Amino acid sequence: MRLFFIFSGGKDGLVSWDIHGQTFDRVVIARQPSEAARLVKHSSFAVLPRAHDWLTKAQRIQFSAITTVYLQAPHHSAPTTPCWHESGPGMPAQFVFDRGQLGDRPGLLAFVVSASHGERDQLEEEVQAQAIAQLGLGITQVVQTVIEKRATFACTPGLQRPPMRIADGILACGDYIDGPYPATLEGAVISGIQAAEALW
Ligand SMILES: Cc1cc2nc3c(=O)[nH]c(=O)nc-3n(C[C@H](O)[C@H](O)[C@H](O)COP(=O)(O)OP(=O)(O)OC[C@H]3O[C@@H](n4cnc5c(N)ncnc54)[C@H](O)[C@@H]3O)c2cc1C
Repeated sequence: MRLFFIFSGGKDGLVSWDIHGQTFDRVVIARQPSEAARLVKHSSFAVLPRAHDWLTKAQRIQFSAITTVYLQAPHHSAPTTPCWHESGPGMPAQFVFDRGQLGDRPGLLAFVVSASHGERDQLEEEVQAQAIAQLGLGITQVVQTVIEKRATFACTPGLQRPPMRIADGILACGDYIDGPYPATLEGAVISGIQAAEALW
């Protein structure tokens, strides 16, 4: 979907925006940075200096992957849920969730690798070895591996994150907006509240 923002003057000197024939005096874009940037890029206000600066910052954002490897353990003694594990070379997972204790079938474990690198086969092998080394599991079977390549924005040193305001009456919110947190639910909620408060 593409939205067109058209400046339409507005009552009492207020700016208003036309989106698919409907008029709004405030717009909040609550999407991932790449989607928000796509909208802004194709908008009528993209040429304004503030919006251009916002777009440049949003387009520079890089992403990190999160991989979840689901293993089936035949004779599994369940770890606490959730369970933290020390990651390191050859041991990529930081968390393991016992899906059996969450209502799934017994022995199904979800290993989560934040900021994951490498290929699927390699990650699966490493996680299986990690399950043996850290949980004392025997032979496990890979049930499924989900790699989300653009799971979170990469919060790297010196990163200039886009601000909440894009143009008059156009705001953005999300975890990637300039703020005190990396890619977290808390950062996203704070940004959403700030955008809602800025509407009035
Ligand atoms: C696998 C995984 C595990 C995570 N674990 C944790 C954790 O343990 N703790 C933590 O704090 N954070 C975690 N995060 C990060 C957290 O989920 C994000 O920081 C947070 O969801 C960001 O919220 P947001 O509102 O900025 O963006 P999102 O939650 O990404 O919301 C953007 C919304 O825009 C919608 N959208 C996209 N394109 C369009 C379109 N074209 N039209 C309409 N809508 C569109 C999407 O469907 C989505 O609903 C995790 C993320 C992932 C992927």
